[in-house]
Amino acid sequence: MTDHAAEVDALPKAELHVHLEGTATPELVRRLARRNGVALPDGLFADEHTFAWTDFLDFLRAYDVAASTIRTALDYRDVTYEYLTACAAEGAVYVELIASLDHGALVGLGDAEHIAGIAQGIDDAHADHGIVGRIISSCVRNFGVPAAEDVARRTVALDHPYVVGFNMAGDEAGFPAPDFARAFAIVAEAGLGCSVHAGEHAGPESVRAALALPGVRRISHGVRAIEDPALVEELARRAIVLEVCPTSNVVLGVYSSYEAHPLPALRAAGVLVTLGSDDPPYFGTTIGREYRLAHERLGCDLAALAAITRTALDAGFARHLAVNLTDHLGDR
Ligand SMILES: [Zn+2]
Repeated sequence: MTDHAAEVDALPKAELHVHLEGTATPELVRRLARRNGVALPDGLFADEHTFAWTDFLDFLRAYDVAASTIRTALDYRDVTYEYLTACAAEGAVYVELIASLDHGALVGLGDAEHIAGIAQGIDDAHADHGIVGRIISSCVRNFGVPAAEDVARRTVALDHPYVVGFNMAGDEAGFPAPDFARAFAIVAEAGLGCSVHAGEHAGPESVRAALALPGVRRISHGVRAIEDPALVEELARRAIVLEVCPTSNVVLGVYSSYEAHPLPALRAAGVLVTLGSDDPPYFGTTIGREYRLAHERLGCDLAALAAITRTALDAGFARHLAVNLTDHLGDR
């Protein structure tokens, strides 16, 4: 493919799949640790941009240690502001941040205070850089069904204009989706958009189960749907959007290389996809880098990348935005 790096960098981008605590860079985590008097273990960082870890369990350990430095509403404001600022510098116009009320509670932060900190970061980034951020509240499968229903109820109770969706992350293989139907019914009835992590560490059956949950219109990852042609056809027919994170999939070993990644095959089958960075400083990536990789190694020309941004803006859960974000795309 010809070299269009500058045009890819200039292209408007949108991101629907990134975990807020997983965006804090080593530099920011060091700053928060100093601010909050948290001691960091040796070997947490590979370099100033990337965390060090060896396997999936070690990744989760590093993530939890780094996330434990994020403690106050001001910390959440700073994490949000700095991530959205970095995204804006790469051309992003819209980002949905997956936030965990459970994490806030773990560090003693009330839900309202937690979300107020994130909202302040969103407002400040919008004022300074024009980027629009919104919040997806997420539960964790392996914390169990009652905990998920609790997060669902608390998310609805927040009734915050920036909290536009609900997601579920965690162990998809060990905790079947149908058990969580009530949690999703609670948020779907309140009008929140729903997405579920599925089809990453488990196969097509996990994607099917996620799609059967109330309100689900997007799947976080979903890439292993490719193993079932009938499911691929259904995703295309129902215009279900897959929030694909190629580098996350390659780094975590879901696929052995970018060349083995199913994004081109999914697109060819008519499945709607977006690009996300998942946990950028852990996977050595950014939203801009995912767009570049999709161009250089996953067969997406500039028109395809513009279509991916349009899909993300159309499938975004934000309502009543003051600006029409698709204007950024012009006639692309
Ligand atoms: Zn994720």
